[in-house]
Amino acid sequence: MKNLNFNHHFTNSLPADDNTSNQRRQVFEAGYSWVKPTATCQPELLIYSPEVANSIDLNQEDCQSVWFKEVFSGNALMDGMQPYAMCYGGHQFGNWAGQLGDGRAINLGEVLNQAGEAWVLQLKGAGATPYSRTADGLAVLRSSLREFLCSEAMFHLGVPTTRALSLCLTGEQVMRDMFYDGNAAYEKGAVVCRVAPSFLRFGSFQIFASRHDFANLKRLMHYTIQSHFPYLLKGKSGEEHIDENTYLAWFSEVCALTKTMVVHWQRVGFVHGVMNTDNMSILGLTIDYGPYGWLEDYNPDWTPNTTDKQFHRYAFGKQASICHWNLAQLAQAIAPLFQDITPLQAVLDAFMVDYTQAEQHMMAEKLGFKAYQADSDAALCADLIALLQRVETDMTIFYRDLANITAFEPSQCWHVIQDAFYEQDAANDQVKQAWMAWFERYVQRLQADGLSHELRKKNMNQVNPKYVLRNYLAQLAIDQADQGDMTMLHALRDVLRQPYVTQEGKESFAEKRPEWARQRAGCSMLSCSS
Ligand code: AMP
Ligand code: MG
Repeated sequence: MKNLNFNHHFTNSLPADDNTSNQRRQVFEAGYSWVKPTATCQPELLIYSPEVANSIDLNQEDCQSVWFKEVFSGNALMDGMQPYAMCYGGHQFGNWAGQLGDGRAINLGEVLNQAGEAWVLQLKGAGATPYSRTADGLAVLRSSLREFLCSEAMFHLGVPTTRALSLCLTGEQVMRDMFYDGNAAYEKGAVVCRVAPSFLRFGSFQIFASRHDFANLKRLMHYTIQSHFPYLLKGKSGEEHIDENTYLAWFSEVCALTKTMVVHWQRVGFVHGVMNTDNMSILGLTIDYGPYGWLEDYNPDWTPNTTDKQFHRYAFGKQASICHWNLAQLAQAIAPLFQDITPLQAVLDAFMVDYTQAEQHMMAEKLGFKAYQADSDAALCADLIALLQRVETDMTIFYRDLANITAFEPSQCWHVIQDAFYEQDAANDQVKQAWMAWFERYVQRLQADGLSHELRKKNMNQVNPKYVLRNYLAQLAIDQADQGDMTMLHALRDVLRQPYVTQEGKESFAEKRPEWARQRAGCSMLSCSS
C-alpha cells in the first residue's frame, strides 16, 4: 500500500465527540465523531478519475491495485488515516432541521500532496455513523454513479465543485423506496470517494450557533479562516490577528464564492435540486449531488426533485435567490461573534446586486458580446429568456448553435437554431416572427461589436458547452452499469472531460432528450432517496 502524507488540522482544531461508540445520538460541543467505515463483502472498483488520483499523488498502477479498491470501498485504512464523521445542522426546505451531520459520509483524512495542496478524502455510503438518525448510512449504485459522473463533469465545465476519486460497488444489497410510494426494492450498494479541500457547510456553523455554543463557533471560524482563507490574514499568523473585521472579510468571501458558483450553474443549466443549508459548501463548491438535473428545454421553474414538486423552491430560476436566503442563515449563525452586525447585514444585502452584475456578464459572454451594455442588453436578454420558454427549446443546443451564425441576417440565425426546438411544428409562424424580430436586434448588436464570426464563435464555444450530463444519458449509464456493463459510464466520463470541444463520433452525447425520457423516473424525476 502506498504511503500518503496525512495531516489532521481539522480534527486537531475542533473538539472530538468523547463518545466513541457508533450509536446514533445528538452530539454536543464537538465538531466530529470518530467512526470507522463498515467493511463490505465484495468490493469492486467500477471507475476512477485519473486526474483526481494524480492530485493526491496516486498513479494508474495504484488505482488498479487491490489495496486501492479495499481502501476506497471502506475495507481498509492507509497508514495515517483517522476517520471521522462531521457534525452539522441545516435548514431543509426552509425549516430548521436541527442536527444532521455526516449520516453516511466518513472522512478518511486530509492528504498533503507533493505540491503542498491539502485534499480531504471522504467516503459516501460506507456505513452508519452517530449522525445516521433512522437511515442506514449506505448509498446505492444509481445515485453514486450520478455523483461520480456529475462532479467530474462539473469540474471540466469549469464549475467549482467537490471531486470524485472512485466509484465502487460494495457487493451488498440495499433496500430503497425510490419514490417514497411503498415500492421498496433492493438495489446494489455503492461507495464514492469524494475529494475536496474541505467539506464544511453553512450548517457546520449553524449547529454551534443553534446550541449557543459560541466557543466552538469561534473555534470553527478561526480554523476555517486559517486553513482555507489564509490570504485574509495578509501574511500575519496567530489568533490575535483574527477579529471581527476578519470575520466580515470571510463572510464577504463566502458570498463571492457562492455567487460565482451559482452564476456557473445558470450558465451551464445545472439544477442542484436540494439547496438546503447543509448542502452549501463554505468554499463555494457544488456539493452533495442528489436529485440534481440539467435543463433540457429552457424552463426556469423546472426542478428534477419530486420531493420539491409542490413549491419548486429549488427550481432553476430560483437558485440565486436561494443562495441569498442560505447566506442569510449563515450570517445569522455567525452574528453572535459580532459586536455590531450592521456591516454583516450590508455585505449580505449586496449579494443580489453583485449576482445580477455577474449574471449580466455571463449572459453577455453566452451571447458572444464583447461586454455587457445595460442600455441595449437588459431588454435583449429578458426578451430572449421569454422567447426560450415560448416553445420547448433545448438550452444547451440553442446556445451552442447560436455561435454558428455566419451572416448578419435574421433568416440565417433562425436556420441555425432549428435543432434546438423539441417539436418542429411548435415553432409556428407567430413564434418564428417573434424570433425573427429578436434576431434583428441581436445581429445589430453583434455588428456594433464588430467581432469577426470566427472570433465570436471561438469565444462563445468556451462558455456554451457542447456536452453536459444530460439526465437521460446518466440514466442509460445506470441501467447498463446495473447489468454489469460499464461501457456508457466510461464513455460519458471521457466525453465530458472536454465539454467545450466538438468530438468526432460523439454526436449521440449532444442530442436532445428523446421522447421516451420525458417522463421516465431517473430522467426527469428524481427523489432524495439515494
Ligand atoms: P442529503 O439530503 O443527502 O443532503 O441528506 C440530508 C441528511 O441526511 C444528511 O445528514 C445525510 O448525511 C443524511 N442521510 C441521507 N441519506 C442517508 C442514509 N442513507 N443514511 C444515513 N444518513 C443519511
Ligand atoms: Mg447533504
